[in-house]
Amino acid sequence: MENNLKSIAVFCASSDGEDVEIYKEAYAVGEFLATHNIEVVYGGSKLGLMGQVAKGALENCGKVTGVIPDFLKTKEVVHLQLSQLITTKDMHERKLKMHDLSEGFIALPGGFGTLEELFEILTWGQLGLHKKPIGILNTNNYYDELLAMLHKMATKKLLKEENMSLVLVSDNIADLLQKMKDFKPMPIPKWMNKNQT
Ligand code: AMP
Repeated sequence: MENNLKSIAVFCASSDGEDVEIYKEAYAVGEFLATHNIEVVYGGSKLGLMGQVAKGALENCGKVTGVIPDFLKTKEVVHLQLSQLITTKDMHERKLKMHDLSEGFIALPGGFGTLEELFEILTWGQLGLHKKPIGILNTNNYYDELLAMLHKMATKKLLKEENMSLVLVSDNIADLLQKMKDFKPMPIPKWMNKNQT
């Protein structure tokens, strides 16, 4: 049976960048999620690609929930036209809240913040702390080198081959969403299950 994804957290750059294709795709992802009745959960900023995702969803009658830590809630940053804005005391609480509110995760192109969010949620997945699908949208080959690095890590056996199956990739949002719907979580390794003898 398919995963029924009703809400997805989007991680992406708080900057505009200079790749027009990537910039436009951020808006298109917001629009796509809204027209598929999927709530967008994101960092709550009006800046950069984050702002474009929110704009794309809101202009197409989508539900958008922003989760922003108190210290970032300044006039220059926070998006004040969202369906819902949740303020957290810090970055850790924000990440947990975004996790709790979402049935899946998508990373669009971004910088340190995006990669940090992506890898933390992948790490939680590999530890069996959640079973939600995680997708990387490889718009305009933005993540080619990162994906090559992940394959190198697996080849060198420093990343378990089966954990690579947590990383769903496509350069097309419709295709990525289908992969996320079809995703089957890995069984939790025996050594992690405290109740098992
Ligand atoms: P970066 O990729 O370094 O631009 O960081 C973007 C990611 O980190 C987003 O997915 C946000 O959740 C978070 N983030 C970074 N900067 C901000 C900001 N100014 N306002 C809200 N969230 C931010």
